[in-house]
Amino acid sequence: MSSDPGAAPSSSPQDLDLLPLADRLRWLLAVRVGLVVALPLAAWAVTRSPESLPLQFLVLPGLALLAFGLLLQKLSVRGRRWAVVAITAPVILDAVHLGWALYLTGGIDSPVVYVVVLHVLAVSLLGSFRSGLKTALWHSLVVMCVLEGITTGSLPARGAEGFDALTYSVFLTVVWVTAVTTAVLGAVNERELRRRRYDEEALRRLAAALHEAESTTEVAEALLDFTVDAADAAVAAVHCHVPDGTAGPAVDLALRRRGDGEVEVLRRNGAPAEGSLLDEVGRRGTTFLAAMTAPDPWVDEVLDGARRVVAIPFGLDGQGSGVLTFTDDARNGSRIQQRRVGVAEQAVAHAATAFARVALLEHLQRSALTDGLTGVSNRRAFDAALDRELALAARADAPLAVLIFDLDHFKKLNDTFGHQAGDDVLRGVGAALRSSARQGDVVARYGGEEFAVVMPGAEADDAIAFARRIRTVLAEVEGPRTITASVGIACHRGAGMPAADLLGAADTALYASKAGGRDQARMAGVEEAVSGVEVEDPVVPVRYPWQEPAAAH
Ligand code: GH3
Ligand code: MG
Ligand code: MG
Repeated sequence: MSSDPGAAPSSSPQDLDLLPLADRLRWLLAVRVGLVVALPLAAWAVTRSPESLPLQFLVLPGLALLAFGLLLQKLSVRGRRWAVVAITAPVILDAVHLGWALYLTGGIDSPVVYVVVLHVLAVSLLGSFRSGLKTALWHSLVVMCVLEGITTGSLPARGAEGFDALTYSVFLTVVWVTAVTTAVLGAVNERELRRRRYDEEALRRLAAALHEAESTTEVAEALLDFTVDAADAAVAAVHCHVPDGTAGPAVDLALRRRGDGEVEVLRRNGAPAEGSLLDEVGRRGTTFLAAMTAPDPWVDEVLDGARRVVAIPFGLDGQGSGVLTFTDDARNGSRIQQRRVGVAEQAVAHAATAFARVALLEHLQRSALTDGLTGVSNRRAFDAALDRELALAARADAPLAVLIFDLDHFKKLNDTFGHQAGDDVLRGVGAALRSSARQGDVVARYGGEEFAVVMPGAEADDAIAFARRIRTVLAEVEGPRTITASVGIACHRGAGMPAADLLGAADTALYASKAGGRDQARMAGVEEAVSGVEVEDPVVPVRYPWQEPAAAH
């Protein structure tokens, strides 16, 4: 059984040791000590005369057996195989010793038979029910040999008669009834205990995985892995919905895992449809065992049209809600179903806390990289994105463009209409830039009323087209007057361009735009000059395409 928290849950309930081998060894040794002490006492009680039965015949073999058991116990640390030998071999010898004591104390009528029954009981309980049955068989053979030995004269008779079929049958009945009864009861207990151990182990692995999880997706994955592996679900899926709110935009998450397959992220948006299973479970707020009689979008699309579905809802610290669903198409008895639902509920309780934790973490991470006023990336996120995109462009020998926008005469707008109006305009500009950017472009607030955009994969023409689009969009931003911006563009392809140089070039182009009369874009001619960009020279005035349409393409 693996104790590695990250390991796949490969162990089945059968693999788990209920009682660690070391503990079993200790207990069986204690039983042996009891035997070594009890047998001479029993012998003394029977004969009451040390002359007729020299007790050393029992004490010395008993001590030898004890020493042998201790030696094997020491060796058992060498590995599992040694430990199994250390358990089995002394038990076999215990039975021989008991047979010897039975012979010495007068055969089948001796009180030693009670010790034999107790020994079978102890081995069944401390070893396993299988060991108990094997020990009962071994005792039956040993006692039969002793009695046969006395009957045939191979063993000198010690007063008692030899093999008597009736007393031997009584002995066998008592031993086997004891062994079989403890075996049956032990098997039931063992199965239950194994299951509990397995569930406990699976929950421990889930807790470790949830502790490591850093995103809602990772939490959902851990929960689904658990549901499929520990709750035996054929298909399991989780759905989370966090509505739009102050914490950020709406978050929707839907993941599924089928049997041996990988976790799949499903595209799903919006709250569950009214009247659907997910909606119903969310409203009830308790575990729901649904027998599906009518079509349901979630069950049909995600759970492969299961007939019986277990749905367990959970809350996300008041921020939203989620539901774990899995198929429960009966393959086992109802007791098993209850166990599966029970462990799944425990897992959901753990996962709900983890969901809430990572949702907060994701929100904080987003906040740390987002500009609070405009909602676009902040300077820190921009710098990181530029470094990352430059490295990617260098590896792929791909183009990349950077644009810096500075709003024209913004101070005047503030002074005339107030800072609040200025702030509203900045918000509008942020939204305009965000909606105009392509997927993969990074829009950031670079300074007070300066914005910057990284366009991975963009050639000069793409950057110019974007600057042109932005001019139109800015003109539509609501405000006390029309907003214009001066733009500096710097383009680059491949390796060798430090971010600071590229930004410096764009900045210089921006100042050239300001100097050239504002409301225009200029481009730094850095495409060929990979290093040692000379600020004065490469600033090539680029007219906006709307000023000179033929030059656009
Ligand atoms: P120019 O055309 O040369 O760029 O003129 P300008 O007035 O825009 O000059 P500059 O770029 O130096 O303007 C910076 C102004 O931006 C100063 C400040 O009033 C304004 N500003 C910077 N951050 C904020 C902000 O968060 N909110 C508001 N309302 N105004 C800001
Ligand atoms: Mg400025
Ligand atoms: Mg300005």
